[in-house]
Amino acid sequence: MHDNVKFEDIKTLTYLLSHAEIDEQMLYAQARSLASQHCGEEVYLRGLVEISNICRKNCLYCGLRRSNDQVKRFMLTESEILDAVLFAYEQGFGSVVLQSGEQHGFEFVRFVERIIKLITQKTNNQLTITLSCGEQKEETYQRWYEAGASRYLLRIETSDPLLYSEIHPKDEIHSYNTRKECLFMLRDIGYQVGTGVMIGLPGQTTENLAQDLLFMKEQDIDMCGMGPYIVHPNTPMAKNKDKILSPEQRLKLSLRMIALLRILMKNINIASTTALETLHPEGRLLGLLAGANVFMPNLTPVPYQEKYSIYAGKPTLHREQVLKKIKMLEKQLLDYGLQIAWNKPGNPIHYQLRNKNDINIS
Ligand code: SAH
Ligand code: SF4
Repeated sequence: MHDNVKFEDIKTLTYLLSHAEIDEQMLYAQARSLASQHCGEEVYLRGLVEISNICRKNCLYCGLRRSNDQVKRFMLTESEILDAVLFAYEQGFGSVVLQSGEQHGFEFVRFVERIIKLITQKTNNQLTITLSCGEQKEETYQRWYEAGASRYLLRIETSDPLLYSEIHPKDEIHSYNTRKECLFMLRDIGYQVGTGVMIGLPGQTTENLAQDLLFMKEQDIDMCGMGPYIVHPNTPMAKNKDKILSPEQRLKLSLRMIALLRILMKNINIASTTALETLHPEGRLLGLLAGANVFMPNLTPVPYQEKYSIYAGKPTLHREQVLKKIKMLEKQLLDYGLQIAWNKPGNPIHYQLRNKNDINIS
């Protein structure tokens, strides 16, 4: 299907995102088959640990925004983080993601650096570390990279500067250009770089989303985590809650985005995000069947999961429930010839190839 279509044009992508007559099952199957062909018939696990909900920013969509005084702020201790991370390691996850609100204090920077070093030591450098701690100075990114982190997730949120300015306060700490600059810095330092967008934002058009796909292609990213926008009641954007697409529409649009990105970028890692599951009980399985190849179970200690409420309805699961869920997913995946990649870091093939190319050029 679509073999003769030139995907890399905005009109075709917009059509494929918006047209009601598209055979979605065929689109998803094609994307899944490309994922299997180029990345393997495996799904990589990343244990997510939400290390702090303290944030200096005020993004208009996010429940953790600094002006939301309903949030009880926390910072996990070193031993809480290590406990969760070592659980991931012992269970064979191969990789962890440390995520937080954006903090710039020297203490935070040093704390994260220390944690990265401790994880590296305690796992004999066998657990790949991804960070998702927002925009930072180049020096900080460099410091964390040298400590042992190798991947960084920083969503551009939307590639359209105008829409970006509408969903953020208009001030210097919420700058589209700075965020984009950070993506360049991360790449220059040597990180495997991940970005992504929210899907179904108020005021977002399908052309915007098609442009988002092209943005990711242009940026030559290694990883993507994108998912539906979900309203958080204590945010300024909640006032537009009646103006957004229905949950079914946002789910479908998100799955089409995953499938089209897979067709555009065959060998990157694409996460099937938790937000998909908030819209549909099998949301994350659907994402994997539409071309995603990464699953990120949440390993944050339960009392803190509730406080890390980026959007409403984010599921809370104990470790035992997480393991049960993975086992169930493993069974479901078997029907499609897919397996969980236990004990594998799951580096994006895209990164391996672009590094080889860079070395050949220099
Ligand atoms: N502070 C860091 C990482 C934590 S936020 C950062 O902003 O990069 C992680 C992601 O949550 C954001 O990139 C954003 O895309 C997503 N997010 C925030 N609010 C959301 C909402 N209401 N619905 C869906 N995703 C949301
Ligand atoms: Fe902070 Fe990230 Fe939420 Fe923005 S999206 S308010 S930076 S946690």
